[in-house]
Amino acid sequence: RTPEPVDYAAVVAKVMDAVAPHVGAGKVADYIPELARVDPGQFGLAVATVDGAMHTAGDADTPFAIESISKLFALALVLARDAECDGTAVGSGAGGLWRRVRREPSGEPFNSLILLEIEKGIPRNPFINPGAIVVTDQLHALTGNAYAAVRELLRAETGNPHLHMDSVIAESEAKCGNRNRALAYLMADFGNMRSQVAEALDHYIRQCSIMITCSELARAGLLVARRGVRADGTRLFGDAEARRLTAVMMTCGTYDEAGEFAYRVGLPCKSGVGGGMLAVVPGRCAVAAWGPGLGPKGNSVSGAAALEAFADISGLSLF
Ligand code: GLU
Repeated sequence: RTPEPVDYAAVVAKVMDAVAPHVGAGKVADYIPELARVDPGQFGLAVATVDGAMHTAGDADTPFAIESISKLFALALVLARDAECDGTAVGSGAGGLWRRVRREPSGEPFNSLILLEIEKGIPRNPFINPGAIVVTDQLHALTGNAYAAVRELLRAETGNPHLHMDSVIAESEAKCGNRNRALAYLMADFGNMRSQVAEALDHYIRQCSIMITCSELARAGLLVARRGVRADGTRLFGDAEARRLTAVMMTCGTYDEAGEFAYRVGLPCKSGVGGGMLAVVPGRCAVAAWGPGLGPKGNSVSGAAALEAFADISGLSLF
């Protein structure tokens, strides 16, 4: 059936009304001072459509730390590369990575050590911290520079050639990164790290410290909405990988609240503790929302309210 046309400008205006009571709610991440200092009263929204339109509102052009949303782009690069290396169909092509990380929601906080010990160094999914460290490690082994690979992809897809990490945030992340170090060394002990642990962690931290705006994030999200077709029209990955990437976003993209997000929003999403959220409507658009105040599971309170309102008002939920 032909999809109903959507008046995105009207949807964005209505979402802004719906989100107003939630702006400022939640608690900003405070594990590093640079995030604790961010003004919680900010909110930005951007919708980029596959036919090239962009609709923004609020603080859509204010940069924030991408944090865990970078995990989506690192995974996209590995899926593309693994398939390319083997020259075979997806599934077998991505076997390198999928031997090292599973695709099940964990039900545990993103930085939990418990399951990793029980499950012998194989993380539950690519979006919890140990899984994302494995993805970055795999990307580093494939490219020789995982951070640069993620940064270059984001530069190309956002159209911002100056996009870069904030080195003060990266330094703080490194200083406060004992738990990530524990996760990575535990995986190394189980034989599930390919690069030097310190080097893989350094690239993981740097990719998390990239600064991005809502409009840039929505534009970059089109890579997934267009099912692997890049801004320049070339293909990064195929339809099958796009299907699998969005499945992992839906089941594992919002920490241990993915069930709640499927229920409230019904769109593949990836969130980060910088307060950003990226949702994708395959074949149609990408929606980026940003509000620094987080709920108890680490998802942006205003961002979640915005995505829920977007799904309600636009009728674009997958369910
Ligand atoms: N840099 C953060 C960490 O690895 C990212 C956390 C997140 O956004 O979930 O702990």
